[in-house]
Amino acid sequence: MRCLLLFLLLGLSLPGAAADRLQVEGYLLPNGMQLLLKPSTEKGHVAIRLVVGVGFDDFPCATQELPHLLEHLMFSGLDAEGEAGLERRMQELGGEWNAFTSDTDTTFVVEAPAPNQRKALDLLLAIITRTRFDEATLETARKIVEREDGGQYSHLQRWLDHQGLARGASEGLAVEMGLKCADRASPSGLTLDQVNNLRRQWYAPNNMTLIVVGDLDKLLPAYLERAFGDLEPVEPSDHPPATLKAKPAARYRTLYSGWVGDAATLHWYFNEPDLPDNVPPPTWDVLQSYFDWLLYNELRLKRGLSYGPWSANEGFGESTLMSLNADLDRADVSAARQAMAQVLEGLRQHGLDRPTFERLKRATIAHQAWAVQGNSALADYYWQSLADYEDGHFADPTAALRGVTFEHASDALRRMLADPGYVRVEQPLVSYGQLQTALYTGPWLALGALLLVGAAWLYRRRR
Ligand SMILES: [Zn+2]
Repeated sequence: MRCLLLFLLLGLSLPGAAADRLQVEGYLLPNGMQLLLKPSTEKGHVAIRLVVGVGFDDFPCATQELPHLLEHLMFSGLDAEGEAGLERRMQELGGEWNAFTSDTDTTFVVEAPAPNQRKALDLLLAIITRTRFDEATLETARKIVEREDGGQYSHLQRWLDHQGLARGASEGLAVEMGLKCADRASPSGLTLDQVNNLRRQWYAPNNMTLIVVGDLDKLLPAYLERAFGDLEPVEPSDHPPATLKAKPAARYRTLYSGWVGDAATLHWYFNEPDLPDNVPPPTWDVLQSYFDWLLYNELRLKRGLSYGPWSANEGFGESTLMSLNADLDRADVSAARQAMAQVLEGLRQHGLDRPTFERLKRATIAHQAWAVQGNSALADYYWQSLADYEDGHFADPTAALRGVTFEHASDALRRMLADPGYVRVEQPLVSYGQLQTALYTGPWLALGALLLVGAAWLYRRRR
Protein backbone atom coordinates (compact mmCIF):
# COMPACT_ATOMS: atom_id res chain seq x y z
CA MET A 1 0.00 0.00 0.00
CA ARG A 2 2.77 2.42 0.95
CA CYS A 3 4.51 1.83 -2.39
CA LEU A 4 1.29 2.49 -4.25
CA LEU A 5 0.72 5.62 -2.26
CA LEU A 6 4.17 6.95 -3.15
CA PHE A 7 3.59 6.11 -6.78
CA LEU A 8 0.28 7.95 -6.64
CA LEU A 9 1.77 11.01 -5.00
CA LEU A 10 4.42 11.10 -7.73
CA GLY A 11 1.77 10.58 -10.37
CA LEU A 12 -0.32 13.44 -9.06
CA SER A 13 2.56 15.87 -9.32
CA LEU A 14 3.25 15.11 -12.96
CA PRO A 15 1.05 17.08 -15.37
CA GLY A 16 2.12 14.73 -18.17
CA ALA A 17 0.23 11.95 -16.44
CA ALA A 18 -2.99 13.50 -17.67
CA ALA A 19 -1.99 13.03 -21.28
CA ASP A 20 -3.24 9.49 -21.61
CA ARG A 21 -6.86 9.42 -20.50
CA LEU A 22 -6.97 5.64 -20.47
CA GLN A 23 -4.20 5.34 -17.93
CA VAL A 24 -5.71 5.73 -14.47
CA GLU A 25 -4.13 5.00 -11.12
CA GLY A 26 -6.32 2.67 -9.20
CA TYR A 27 -5.90 0.84 -5.98
CA LEU A 28 -7.88 -1.19 -3.53
CA LEU A 29 -8.20 -0.10 0.08
CA PRO A 30 -7.76 -2.97 2.56
CA ASN A 31 -11.57 -2.99 3.03
CA GLY A 32 -12.02 -3.76 -0.67
CA MET A 33 -13.04 -0.28 -1.85
CA GLN A 34 -11.72 0.51 -5.30
CA LEU A 35 -10.28 4.00 -5.91
CA LEU A 36 -9.60 5.46 -9.34
CA LEU A 37 -7.80 8.80 -9.34
CA LYS A 38 -7.06 10.80 -12.44
CA PRO A 39 -5.25 14.14 -12.31
CA SER A 40 -6.10 16.36 -15.26
CA THR A 41 -4.88 19.63 -16.69
CA GLU A 42 -8.31 21.23 -16.22
CA LYS A 43 -7.72 23.21 -13.03
CA GLY A 44 -9.95 24.39 -10.22
CA HIS A 45 -12.50 21.55 -10.28
CA VAL A 46 -12.95 17.89 -9.42
CA ALA A 47 -15.58 15.44 -10.64
CA ILE A 48 -16.45 12.70 -8.17
CA ARG A 49 -18.44 9.52 -8.90
CA LEU A 50 -19.21 7.01 -6.17
CA VAL A 51 -20.46 3.87 -7.89
CA VAL A 52 -22.33 1.37 -5.70
CA GLY A 53 -22.68 -2.00 -7.42
CA VAL A 54 -26.42 -2.50 -6.98
CA GLY A 55 -29.20 -1.66 -9.46
CA PHE A 56 -32.67 -2.62 -10.71
CA ASP A 57 -31.48 -5.94 -12.13
CA ASP A 58 -30.57 -7.19 -8.64
CA PHE A 59 -34.25 -7.42 -7.68
CA PRO A 60 -37.31 -9.29 -8.92
CA CYS A 61 -40.02 -7.29 -10.71
CA ALA A 62 -42.14 -6.58 -7.61
CA THR A 63 -39.32 -4.96 -5.60
CA GLN A 64 -37.29 -3.54 -8.46
CA GLU A 65 -37.67 0.06 -7.23
CA LEU A 66 -35.80 -0.71 -3.97
CA PRO A 67 -32.37 0.61 -5.04
CA HIS A 68 -34.02 3.71 -6.53
CA LEU A 69 -36.00 4.31 -3.34
CA LEU A 70 -32.83 3.98 -1.25
CA GLU A 71 -31.01 6.36 -3.59
CA HIS A 72 -33.70 8.99 -2.89
CA LEU A 73 -33.64 8.27 0.83
CA MET A 74 -29.96 9.25 0.78
CA PHE A 75 -31.15 12.84 0.19
CA SER A 76 -33.06 12.82 3.50
CA GLY A 77 -30.37 14.64 5.44
CA LEU A 78 -27.87 14.06 8.21
CA ASP A 79 -29.61 15.76 11.10
CA ALA A 80 -32.82 17.51 12.17
CA GLU A 81 -32.37 20.03 9.36
CA GLY A 82 -33.11 17.27 6.83
CA GLU A 83 -32.74 17.69 3.09
CA ALA A 84 -32.52 21.49 3.30
CA GLY A 85 -29.59 21.27 5.70
CA LEU A 86 -27.81 18.89 3.38
CA GLU A 87 -28.37 21.18 0.43
CA ARG A 88 -27.09 24.13 2.46
CA ARG A 89 -23.86 22.27 3.29
CA MET A 90 -23.29 21.48 -0.36
CA GLN A 91 -23.96 25.12 -1.31
CA GLU A 92 -21.41 26.27 1.26
CA LEU A 93 -18.82 24.09 -0.48
CA GLY A 94 -19.77 25.54 -3.87
CA GLY A 95 -20.58 22.05 -5.10
CA GLU A 96 -23.48 20.22 -6.65
CA TRP A 97 -24.66 16.66 -6.23
CA ASN A 98 -27.07 14.20 -7.76
CA ALA A 99 -27.62 10.45 -7.91
CA PHE A 100 -28.77 7.93 -10.50
CA THR A 101 -30.00 4.34 -10.35
CA SER A 102 -29.47 2.13 -13.38
CA ASP A 103 -29.96 -1.57 -14.12
CA THR A 104 -26.55 -2.39 -12.69
CA ASP A 105 -25.49 0.38 -10.29
CA THR A 106 -26.46 3.33 -8.09
CA THR A 107 -24.11 6.27 -8.57
CA PHE A 108 -23.62 9.48 -6.59
CA VAL A 109 -22.32 12.31 -8.73
CA VAL A 110 -20.56 15.29 -7.14
CA GLU A 111 -18.99 18.31 -8.84
CA ALA A 112 -16.89 20.47 -6.54
CA PRO A 113 -14.32 23.27 -6.61
CA ALA A 114 -10.82 21.80 -6.21
CA PRO A 115 -9.99 23.57 -2.92
CA ASN A 116 -13.05 21.93 -1.28
CA GLN A 117 -12.56 18.44 -2.67
CA ARG A 118 -11.81 16.79 0.67
CA LYS A 119 -14.76 18.54 2.33
CA ALA A 120 -17.04 17.45 -0.52
CA LEU A 121 -15.81 13.87 -0.11
CA ASP A 122 -16.38 14.13 3.65
CA LEU A 123 -19.96 15.17 2.99
CA LEU A 124 -20.47 12.33 0.48
CA LEU A 125 -19.09 9.85 3.00
CA ALA A 126 -21.45 11.23 5.65
CA ILE A 127 -24.41 10.90 3.25
CA ILE A 128 -23.61 7.25 2.58
CA THR A 129 -22.95 6.31 6.18
CA ARG A 130 -24.87 8.70 8.44
CA THR A 131 -28.18 9.36 6.68
CA ARG A 132 -30.95 8.03 8.91
CA PHE A 133 -34.40 7.17 7.65
CA ASP A 134 -37.76 6.63 9.29
CA GLU A 135 -41.33 6.05 8.12
CA ALA A 136 -41.79 9.76 7.38
CA THR A 137 -38.69 10.09 5.17
CA LEU A 138 -39.60 6.79 3.49
CA GLU A 139 -43.02 8.22 2.63
CA THR A 140 -41.45 11.40 1.18
CA ALA A 141 -38.97 9.40 -0.92
CA ARG A 142 -41.77 7.09 -2.06
CA LYS A 143 -43.82 10.07 -3.29
CA ILE A 144 -40.85 11.48 -5.20
CA VAL A 145 -40.11 8.15 -6.89
CA GLU A 146 -43.81 7.78 -7.78
CA ARG A 147 -43.83 11.28 -9.27
CA GLU A 148 -40.71 10.49 -11.31
CA ASP A 149 -42.43 7.37 -12.62
CA GLY A 150 -45.41 9.45 -13.78
CA GLY A 151 -47.67 9.29 -10.71
CA GLN A 152 -49.12 6.44 -8.73
CA TYR A 153 -49.48 3.24 -10.75
CA SER A 154 -53.25 3.03 -11.28
CA HIS A 155 -55.38 0.12 -12.49
CA LEU A 156 -56.01 2.01 -15.73
CA GLN A 157 -52.26 2.47 -16.32
CA ARG A 158 -51.63 -1.20 -15.61
CA TRP A 159 -54.35 -2.13 -18.09
CA LEU A 160 -52.91 0.26 -20.72
CA ASP A 161 -49.43 -1.20 -20.10
CA HIS A 162 -50.74 -4.72 -20.58
CA GLN A 163 -52.39 -3.66 -23.87
CA GLY A 164 -49.03 -2.21 -24.93
CA LEU A 165 -50.59 1.26 -25.23
CA ALA A 166 -48.78 3.33 -22.61
CA ARG A 167 -45.10 2.60 -23.13
CA GLY A 168 -42.44 3.72 -25.56
CA ALA A 169 -41.91 1.39 -28.51
CA SER A 170 -38.65 -0.21 -27.41
CA GLU A 171 -39.74 -0.65 -23.81
CA GLY A 172 -43.02 -2.19 -24.96
CA LEU A 173 -41.23 -4.59 -27.27
CA ALA A 174 -38.78 -5.55 -24.50
CA VAL A 175 -41.77 -6.40 -22.26
CA GLU A 176 -43.38 -8.44 -25.05
CA MET A 177 -40.12 -10.34 -25.60
CA GLY A 178 -39.79 -11.03 -21.87
CA LEU A 179 -36.67 -8.86 -21.50
CA LYS A 180 -38.32 -6.44 -19.07
CA CYS A 181 -40.88 -6.66 -16.25
CA ALA A 182 -44.50 -6.46 -17.49
CA ASP A 183 -45.67 -4.18 -14.68
CA ARG A 184 -43.91 -0.92 -14.05
CA ALA A 185 -41.83 -1.11 -10.91
CA SER A 186 -43.54 0.75 -8.08
CA PRO A 187 -42.23 1.88 -4.69
CA SER A 188 -45.58 1.29 -2.97
CA GLY A 189 -45.49 -1.52 -0.45
CA LEU A 190 -41.70 -1.39 -0.01
CA THR A 191 -40.78 -1.29 3.66
CA LEU A 192 -38.15 0.32 5.83
CA ASP A 193 -36.78 -3.15 6.64
CA GLN A 194 -36.26 -3.95 2.97
CA VAL A 195 -34.46 -0.65 2.42
CA ASN A 196 -32.25 -1.13 5.47
CA ASN A 197 -31.37 -4.68 4.38
CA LEU A 198 -30.42 -3.46 0.93
CA ARG A 199 -28.20 -0.79 2.48
CA ARG A 200 -26.49 -3.31 4.79
CA GLN A 201 -26.02 -5.86 2.06
CA TRP A 202 -24.81 -3.67 -0.82
CA TYR A 203 -23.68 -0.24 0.46
CA ALA A 204 -20.33 -1.63 1.57
CA PRO A 205 -16.82 -0.56 0.57
CA ASN A 206 -16.12 -3.87 -1.18
CA ASN A 207 -19.07 -3.12 -3.47
CA MET A 208 -18.05 0.49 -4.25
CA THR A 209 -15.76 2.32 -6.62
CA LEU A 210 -14.79 5.93 -6.03
CA ILE A 211 -13.67 7.88 -9.10
CA VAL A 212 -12.10 11.32 -8.71
CA VAL A 213 -10.98 13.27 -11.80
CA GLY A 214 -9.56 16.79 -12.04
CA ASP A 215 -7.30 19.12 -10.11
CA LEU A 216 -6.45 16.55 -7.44
CA ASP A 217 -5.14 17.51 -4.04
CA LYS A 218 -1.68 16.03 -3.37
CA LEU A 219 -2.88 14.67 -0.05
CA LEU A 220 -5.96 13.03 -1.57
CA PRO A 221 -4.71 9.40 -1.52
CA ALA A 222 -3.70 9.60 2.14
CA TYR A 223 -7.00 11.31 3.00
CA LEU A 224 -9.06 8.67 1.14
CA GLU A 225 -7.19 5.85 2.80
CA ARG A 226 -7.96 7.36 6.19
CA ALA A 227 -11.56 8.46 5.59
CA PHE A 228 -12.97 5.68 3.39
CA GLY A 229 -10.62 3.01 4.76
CA ASP A 230 -12.66 2.93 7.97
CA LEU A 231 -15.80 1.59 6.28
CA GLU A 232 -16.65 -1.96 7.28
CA PRO A 233 -16.72 -4.49 4.42
CA VAL A 234 -19.52 -7.06 4.19
CA GLU A 235 -19.65 -10.65 3.04
CA PRO A 236 -20.03 -10.15 -0.74
CA SER A 237 -23.37 -11.19 -2.25
CA ASP A 238 -23.75 -12.67 -5.68
CA HIS A 239 -25.81 -10.70 -8.17
CA PRO A 240 -28.92 -12.88 -8.67
CA PRO A 241 -29.44 -14.42 -12.11
CA ALA A 242 -32.13 -12.96 -14.38
CA THR A 243 -35.55 -14.48 -13.72
CA LEU A 244 -37.42 -13.24 -16.81
CA LYS A 245 -38.26 -15.71 -19.55
CA ALA A 246 -38.01 -14.98 -23.28
CA LYS A 247 -41.34 -14.89 -25.16
CA PRO A 248 -42.35 -14.42 -28.80
CA ALA A 249 -43.50 -10.92 -29.74
CA ALA A 250 -45.82 -9.62 -32.48
CA ARG A 251 -43.94 -8.77 -35.67
CA TYR A 252 -46.02 -5.66 -36.31
CA ARG A 253 -47.89 -3.32 -34.01
CA THR A 254 -49.32 0.18 -34.10
CA LEU A 255 -48.86 2.02 -30.82
CA TYR A 256 -50.90 5.04 -29.86
CA SER A 257 -49.03 7.96 -28.39
CA GLY A 258 -51.41 10.80 -27.55
CA TRP A 259 -54.85 11.56 -28.98
CA VAL A 260 -54.55 13.88 -32.00
CA GLY A 261 -51.64 14.66 -34.32
CA ASP A 262 -50.05 14.18 -37.71
CA ALA A 263 -46.63 12.97 -36.61
CA ALA A 264 -45.58 9.34 -36.51
CA THR A 265 -42.45 7.34 -35.80
CA LEU A 266 -41.45 4.13 -37.49
CA HIS A 267 -39.17 1.70 -35.65
CA TRP A 268 -37.68 -1.51 -37.03
CA TYR A 269 -36.07 -3.63 -34.32
CA PHE A 270 -33.67 -6.55 -34.43
CA ASN A 271 -32.48 -8.64 -31.52
CA GLU A 272 -28.66 -8.60 -31.73
CA PRO A 273 -27.58 -12.23 -32.04
CA ASP A 274 -24.58 -13.65 -30.19
CA LEU A 275 -21.42 -13.33 -32.25
CA PRO A 276 -18.49 -15.77 -32.46
CA ASP A 277 -15.74 -15.06 -29.91
CA ASN A 278 -13.34 -13.66 -32.50
CA VAL A 279 -15.76 -10.86 -33.47
CA PRO A 280 -15.06 -7.77 -31.31
CA PRO A 281 -18.15 -6.25 -29.55
CA PRO A 282 -17.65 -2.75 -31.13
CA THR A 283 -18.68 -4.41 -34.42
CA TRP A 284 -22.22 -3.33 -33.44
CA ASP A 285 -21.05 0.29 -32.99
CA VAL A 286 -19.57 0.41 -36.48
CA LEU A 287 -22.69 -1.23 -37.90
CA GLN A 288 -24.81 1.35 -36.11
CA SER A 289 -22.85 4.17 -37.79
CA TYR A 290 -23.46 2.38 -41.08
CA PHE A 291 -27.24 2.24 -40.42
CA ASP A 292 -27.25 5.93 -39.45
CA TRP A 293 -25.67 6.81 -42.76
CA LEU A 294 -27.98 4.53 -44.78
CA LEU A 295 -31.10 5.97 -43.14
CA TYR A 296 -29.91 9.56 -43.59
CA ASN A 297 -29.02 8.93 -47.20
CA GLU A 298 -32.08 6.89 -48.21
CA LEU A 299 -34.90 8.34 -46.09
CA ARG A 300 -33.86 11.97 -45.80
CA LEU A 301 -31.66 12.87 -48.76
CA LYS A 302 -33.06 10.63 -51.52
CA ARG A 303 -36.73 10.28 -50.50
CA GLY A 304 -37.32 13.24 -48.16
CA LEU A 305 -39.52 11.12 -45.90
CA SER A 306 -37.83 11.77 -42.58
CA TYR A 307 -35.96 14.76 -41.23
CA GLY A 308 -33.82 13.02 -38.62
CA PRO A 309 -33.81 9.23 -39.02
CA TRP A 310 -31.55 7.42 -36.56
CA SER A 311 -30.41 4.07 -35.35
CA ALA A 312 -30.10 2.96 -31.73
CA ASN A 313 -28.57 0.20 -29.68
CA GLU A 314 -30.48 -0.42 -26.43
CA GLY A 315 -29.61 -3.00 -23.81
CA PHE A 316 -32.29 -4.89 -21.85
CA GLY A 317 -30.73 -7.33 -19.39
CA GLU A 318 -28.58 -9.73 -21.37
CA SER A 319 -30.08 -8.73 -24.72
CA THR A 320 -29.58 -5.73 -26.98
CA LEU A 321 -32.04 -4.38 -29.52
CA MET A 322 -30.70 -2.65 -32.62
CA SER A 323 -33.25 -0.36 -34.20
CA LEU A 324 -33.67 1.67 -37.37
CA ASN A 325 -35.99 4.62 -36.70
CA ALA A 326 -37.59 7.46 -38.62
CA ASP A 327 -39.66 10.48 -37.58
CA LEU A 328 -42.42 10.93 -40.16
CA ASP A 329 -45.62 12.54 -41.25
CA ARG A 330 -48.26 9.88 -40.56
CA ALA A 331 -49.32 9.99 -44.21
CA ASP A 332 -45.83 8.72 -45.09
CA VAL A 333 -45.76 5.70 -42.78
CA SER A 334 -46.34 3.06 -45.44
CA ALA A 335 -43.92 4.72 -47.90
CA ALA A 336 -41.27 4.88 -45.20
CA ARG A 337 -41.89 1.30 -44.19
CA GLN A 338 -41.46 0.25 -47.79
CA ALA A 339 -38.27 2.32 -48.13
CA MET A 340 -36.82 0.78 -44.97
CA ALA A 341 -37.77 -2.70 -46.19
CA GLN A 342 -35.90 -1.95 -49.44
CA VAL A 343 -32.84 -0.79 -47.51
CA LEU A 344 -32.86 -3.99 -45.44
CA GLU A 345 -33.47 -6.18 -48.49
CA GLY A 346 -30.54 -4.48 -50.25
CA LEU A 347 -28.34 -5.30 -47.26
CA ARG A 348 -29.52 -8.92 -47.26
CA GLN A 349 -28.78 -9.32 -50.96
CA HIS A 350 -25.62 -7.30 -51.46
CA GLY A 351 -24.20 -6.93 -47.94
CA LEU A 352 -22.21 -3.88 -46.88
CA ASP A 353 -20.42 -1.56 -49.26
CA ARG A 354 -16.71 -1.91 -48.47
CA PRO A 355 -15.54 1.71 -49.11
CA THR A 356 -18.51 3.09 -47.10
CA PHE A 357 -17.77 0.67 -44.27
CA GLU A 358 -14.07 1.66 -44.19
CA ARG A 359 -14.91 5.38 -44.26
CA LEU A 360 -17.43 5.08 -41.39
CA LYS A 361 -15.07 2.91 -39.35
CA ARG A 362 -12.31 5.55 -39.72
CA ALA A 363 -14.79 8.27 -38.69
CA THR A 364 -15.91 6.27 -35.62
CA ILE A 365 -12.27 5.84 -34.58
CA ALA A 366 -11.51 9.53 -35.19
CA HIS A 367 -14.47 10.57 -32.98
CA GLN A 368 -12.76 8.87 -30.04
CA ALA A 369 -10.10 11.60 -30.07
CA TRP A 370 -12.58 14.29 -29.02
CA ALA A 371 -15.61 12.38 -27.74
CA VAL A 372 -14.72 12.85 -24.05
CA GLN A 373 -14.07 16.47 -23.03
CA GLY A 374 -13.42 17.79 -19.53
CA ASN A 375 -13.24 16.34 -16.02
CA SER A 376 -16.94 15.50 -15.69
CA ALA A 377 -17.19 13.71 -19.03
CA LEU A 378 -14.01 11.80 -18.23
CA ALA A 379 -15.35 10.74 -14.82
CA ASP A 380 -18.60 9.62 -16.51
CA TYR A 381 -16.59 7.73 -19.10
CA TYR A 382 -14.71 5.83 -16.36
CA TRP A 383 -17.99 5.12 -14.59
CA GLN A 384 -19.54 3.66 -17.76
CA SER A 385 -16.40 1.68 -18.61
CA LEU A 386 -15.58 0.19 -15.19
CA ALA A 387 -15.87 -3.32 -16.62
CA ASP A 388 -13.00 -2.50 -19.00
CA TYR A 389 -10.56 -1.43 -16.25
CA GLU A 390 -7.60 -3.61 -15.42
CA ASP A 391 -4.06 -3.05 -14.12
CA GLY A 392 -4.13 0.74 -14.22
CA HIS A 393 -5.68 0.92 -17.68
CA PHE A 394 -9.05 1.23 -19.32
CA ALA A 395 -9.30 -0.85 -22.49
CA ASP A 396 -8.54 1.28 -25.56
CA PRO A 397 -11.81 1.70 -27.52
CA THR A 398 -9.81 2.80 -30.56
CA ALA A 399 -7.84 -0.46 -30.63
CA ALA A 400 -11.07 -2.45 -30.28
CA LEU A 401 -12.63 -0.47 -33.16
CA ARG A 402 -9.55 -0.98 -35.33
CA GLY A 403 -9.98 -4.70 -34.79
CA VAL A 404 -13.41 -4.64 -36.45
CA THR A 405 -13.00 -5.91 -40.00
CA PHE A 406 -15.33 -5.74 -42.98
CA GLU A 407 -15.77 -9.51 -42.63
CA HIS A 408 -16.75 -9.23 -38.94
CA ALA A 409 -19.36 -6.57 -39.68
CA SER A 410 -20.73 -8.49 -42.68
CA ASP A 411 -21.02 -11.63 -40.55
CA ALA A 412 -22.84 -9.77 -37.74
CA LEU A 413 -25.16 -8.12 -40.26
CA ARG A 414 -25.99 -11.44 -41.94
CA ARG A 415 -26.82 -13.03 -38.56
CA MET A 416 -28.95 -10.05 -37.51
CA LEU A 417 -30.92 -9.90 -40.77
CA ALA A 418 -31.62 -13.65 -40.74
CA ASP A 419 -34.62 -12.56 -38.64
CA PRO A 420 -37.30 -10.34 -40.22
CA GLY A 421 -37.30 -8.07 -37.17
CA TYR A 422 -40.13 -6.27 -35.37
CA VAL A 423 -41.92 -3.21 -36.75
CA ARG A 424 -43.57 -0.68 -34.45
CA VAL A 425 -45.42 2.44 -35.60
CA GLU A 426 -46.11 5.10 -32.99
CA GLN A 427 -48.79 7.66 -33.79
CA PRO A 428 -51.62 9.57 -32.08
CA LEU A 429 -55.08 7.97 -32.11
CA VAL A 430 -56.50 10.27 -34.83
CA SER A 431 -54.99 12.73 -37.28
CA TYR A 432 -56.05 16.39 -37.47
CA GLY A 433 -57.74 15.61 -40.79
CA GLN A 434 -59.79 12.78 -39.26
CA LEU A 435 -60.74 15.00 -36.35
CA GLN A 436 -61.77 17.83 -38.66
CA THR A 437 -63.91 15.49 -40.79
CA ALA A 438 -65.56 14.16 -37.66
CA LEU A 439 -66.25 17.70 -36.41
CA TYR A 440 -67.67 18.86 -39.76
CA THR A 441 -69.74 15.82 -40.59
CA GLY A 442 -70.63 14.79 -37.04
CA PRO A 443 -73.39 17.40 -36.48
CA TRP A 444 -74.88 16.80 -39.98
CA LEU A 445 -74.90 13.05 -39.41
CA ALA A 446 -76.56 13.57 -36.04
CA LEU A 447 -79.14 15.93 -37.62
CA GLY A 448 -79.76 13.40 -40.41
CA ALA A 449 -80.30 10.62 -37.89
CA LEU A 450 -82.68 12.85 -35.89
CA LEU A 451 -84.74 13.68 -39.03
CA LEU A 452 -84.97 10.01 -39.93
CA VAL A 453 -86.20 9.11 -36.48
CA GLY A 454 -88.72 12.00 -36.62
CA ALA A 455 -89.95 10.95 -40.06
CA ALA A 456 -90.37 7.36 -38.94
CA TRP A 457 -92.34 8.51 -35.90
CA LEU A 458 -94.66 10.72 -38.01
CA TYR A 459 -95.15 7.90 -40.51
CA ARG A 460 -96.18 5.51 -37.74
CA ARG A 461 -98.60 8.07 -36.19
CA ARG A 462 -100.23 8.75 -39.58
CA ARG A 463 -100.95 5.04 -39.98
ZN1 LIG B 1 -34.99 9.15 -9.05
